[in-house]
Amino acid sequence: MNHPKTERTLVVIKPDGVQRTLIGEIIKRLERPGLKLVALKMCLPTEEHIEKHYTLDPEWRRITGEKRIKNAREKGEKLPTEDPLEITAIILEKLKKYMTSGPVVAMVWQGAHSTELVRKIVGGTEPRSSDVGTIRGDYVLDSYIMADTDGRAVRNLIHASGTSEESEKEIKHWFKDNELIDYRLIAEQILYDVNLDGFLE
Ligand code: ADP
Ligand code: MG
Repeated sequence: MNHPKTERTLVVIKPDGVQRTLIGEIIKRLERPGLKLVALKMCLPTEEHIEKHYTLDPEWRRITGEKRIKNAREKGEKLPTEDPLEITAIILEKLKKYMTSGPVVAMVWQGAHSTELVRKIVGGTEPRSSDVGTIRGDYVLDSYIMADTDGRAVRNLIHASGTSEESEKEIKHWFKDNELIDYRLIAEQILYDVNLDGFLE
């Protein structure tokens, strides 16, 4: 097993995150717990790249549709269909438009349990219910109902991989191997060093 500190995860600041001038704030929040930035680029993704990105996980269509259905039941909303795959087919079209509307910032972050940690910092998918203190909860107010009413994707500033397997696939989809940099961050000594020696003179 690889040491947990070697785990890497993909983060993409979506077009609304760039337009809201939140690049610095988002990077600051990810650096804060001790994660290390190992790759970074600004790009204009194509619709094909976005469709591939969201369908790397064969289960994503089902899970995303089911998540919306569960939320609608809790809120007493009626959806045009109860078929999760039909719901996601509509979402995917809107997502392609959203994600190609302007530049995005793609990044790879490394550190112990990075996938889980980044998801915790980013917050839940729907900003309406994302916890206060998370990026989505603190900086945006969108909801499924608003997105449905206006026929668009939910604007939630940031993409973060959902599982460590997803992280690996998504990193390969966005970055070439030689764009990832192996280096040591001095702060890692206090986070990961076993003996904490070498401080006293
Ligand atoms: P997350 O980004 O939290 O992992 P998902 O993978 O379920 O969420 O969905 C991907 C993205 O699709 C979301 O971040 C959001 O921008 C958009 N989205 C998800 N569900 C809906 C929905 N029901 N209506 C509109 N847009 C949605
Ligand atoms: Mg997801």
